[in-house]
Amino acid sequence: MKYLLLSLVSLSALAQDPYRLVMVADPQSRGRAEEYKNYMLTKPPFNQLGNQMEIVITEMSDSDLSCANDMPTSPRIIRCNTNKLNQRKRELGGHHVVAFTNNATGGAGGQHAIASVDYPLNTMMHEMMHMYGLADEYCYTGSEIQEYCNPPRRAPNVAMIAPNPPFANKGEAFAKHGDKIGWSGEIHAPTPITQGTEVLGTPSGNYGESAGLYEGGHCTNKTALREKIYRPYQNSIMKTLSVDTIQPFYQARILEAMEAARGRRFEARPVRNTTVSWPQMLSEPEETTETTEVQTEEIICPPLLDPTTGETSNAESLQVDMDYIFNKFFKPKKKSVRPENGQ
Ligand SMILES: [Zn+2]
Repeated sequence: MKYLLLSLVSLSALAQDPYRLVMVADPQSRGRAEEYKNYMLTKPPFNQLGNQMEIVITEMSDSDLSCANDMPTSPRIIRCNTNKLNQRKRELGGHHVVAFTNNATGGAGGQHAIASVDYPLNTMMHEMMHMYGLADEYCYTGSEIQEYCNPPRRAPNVAMIAPNPPFANKGEAFAKHGDKIGWSGEIHAPTPITQGTEVLGTPSGNYGESAGLYEGGHCTNKTALREKIYRPYQNSIMKTLSVDTIQPFYQARILEAMEAARGRRFEARPVRNTTVSWPQMLSEPEETTETTEVQTEEIICPPLLDPTTGETSNAESLQVDMDYIFNKFFKPKKKSVRPENGQ
């Protein structure tokens, strides 16, 4: 009985040990951090964790945080003082640390996530998803290819496949390449992953919450790449900031990363049902690939939003996206000068 009581006590102690996210803000960004915290708490999976997650906002001086756009080849990348961030994280018992800054413009995601106050609010979500191990899904160009594609960085949301047609049906495509698709469990039965018998990839269309196998993005533009690059969703926050949804596949990866950092599984980990949005399709037979129209045009790197310019690369489009959203929804204010050799 005594031992039972003890283990009950320790179990309840574990329940009190939440995943803790430390948000560092320079003095001018404090309000932005509060705003983002509220936004974040409306988004799954974060809104499902209750008291298993804590967000701590803490201020750091401009000079200590020391953020800057100091990479001429990547003018949108922000770097801050990593040692100070880690130190603050340790002091506050955090599992991850992110930073908001008013002294640079853009963002960065890796060990930490960083976002400037003049970019859309969900920039931080995009950068945090990098922190949780996910890769960009827009097409890298130029210096980005040099930086990120030699060799292409592996991530759960990137599949590199050298297609081996023909594909008589979806099953054959899965048999040949399914082991390379980290999200195959998220591709619902009615969602095609081939176009005709020769082309591997989901055609454009509305497949509800289902993932697909969409060609393009990431290191697609790297020449002499033997494999093709595939991503799970036509659009996601990793491709464009105009998308605000965190699809189920990403939610699961985020939770795993949080649990790994915390060193413990969440209790009552959120259960999701990936089929509710498409109940009418469940009993219907899988569409035969022969009738699927093949996309003849290359739509590997389509523009994301087309508010201002026509011919842009995808990386540029993301910038256009950000600028568009920013100009449309946020009041511009005076910023530090960007490096001149930027995009
Ligand atoms: Zn990114």
